[in-house]
Formats: sequence, structure tokens, C-alpha cells
Amino acid sequence: MRILLAEDDLLLGDGLRAGLRQQGFLVDWVRDGLACEREMVSGDYQAAVLDLGLPLKDGMEVLKALRQRKVSTPVLVLTARDAVPDRIAGLDLGADDYVVKPVDLAELAARLRSLVRRSHGQTQDTLQCGSVRIHVSARQVWMDDKQVTLSTREFDLLHVLMLSMGRVLSREQLEQKLYNWGHEVESNAIEVHIHHLRRKLYADLIQTVRGVGYTMLRPGG
Ligand code: CA
Repeated sequence: MRILLAEDDLLLGDGLRAGLRQQGFLVDWVRDGLACEREMVSGDYQAAVLDLGLPLKDGMEVLKALRQRKVSTPVLVLTARDAVPDRIAGLDLGADDYVVKPVDLAELAARLRSLVRRSHGQTQDTLQCGSVRIHVSARQVWMDDKQVTLSTREFDLLHVLMLSMGRVLSREQLEQKLYNWGHEVESNAIEVHIHHLRRKLYADLIQTVRGVGYTMLRPGG
């Protein structure tokens, strides 16, 4: 899951980025409100973690602007322990959840996974397509009753396709969701990962829509 982190405190930001990476998130980090707004509008993030006290543009103002511009990416707000009015205002402006500082990383990661799930209309930590089942938080994949080992990117790709089951995603859209800043993407990277997924799972799991992209069909749909 690719997320945007907006935090101006260097120590906290560094810790959050490292911790979220360990939990399997791809993290791009911005340090001011204007950069946050710009990246949220132009990038393809599955969620954002937003500190309210940001330079150049306050977090609340960023949130307001994003919702006015119809950016519907889920936003989780970081607040101080005693800032109840902030929380209420944030929720009114379109924040989807909040976490109180000092941040418990396991809680933050769980809340982010839940936000992404809900934004795709899913309620469970487990996603299933035919005989393939993934446990998102544990990053495990099962086919029938057998566990299958996937690389990090293969898992992320399978997760993205399963979240969007029934929709066609282009190669560019998949690249955007799978690679954060600082990663060179080989032109055939997605094709190679798809090939591996078909080989490790089964060939019909992922359909190629010629000239458009890839999709996973709902069984029977
Ligand atoms: Ca701050």
C-alpha cells in the first residue's frame, strides 16, 4: 500500500516512515502543507497520514482544500493528546480517522489498513478470489489450504488487484500504486510480476485486457 506521510518534525517523520515501511507500506514523505496538497492531487495514494501543524499550509487547510477538490483518498490525522476540538474539526472537514501522539506504530498501521479496506468497500482483513486468499495484515497468501510464498512486490500487486476486483487497472496505474519515490521502474516490471503471480498461483487468476491493462474477475461475475 502506497501512502503519503505529511510531517514536519524530522525525528518523528523519520521514525514513522521507517516503522510503516517495516509494516509493509510504501511511504512517500513530505514536510509541508503545500507539498502535501500537491502530491495528494497528482499522486496515486491509498491513504495519507497528516500532521495538523505543518509549515506553509496548515493541515486543516490542506484537508479542506483536498475535499473541496474532490480528492477522496482516506486521510488519517495525527493529533496531540489533549486536542479534542482539533479532532472534531478534522472529522468535520473530511478526515477519516485520527491517531493520538505519541504514535503507536502497530495501531497506526492497523488503522491505515482498515481505512484502505473501507475505501474499497471491504470489511475483512482477508480477501478472496476463487481458491486464492490473502491475509492483508499478516501479508500471507493461501491457495486452497496451501500457503504460497510471494515477493514483496508480488504480494502488493496481488493485493491491489484484489482490492479492485472487477475493475481494469492499466500498467501505469499499477506502477503508481507499487512504486514510491526513488524507485526506478523497469518498463516490463509489472508484466514480469504478473507472469510470476500466474505461475505461482494459477494462470486464469489475472486477466489481460489487451491494450488496457489487467483485472481480476469476481468468481461467477
Ligand atoms: Ca508538526
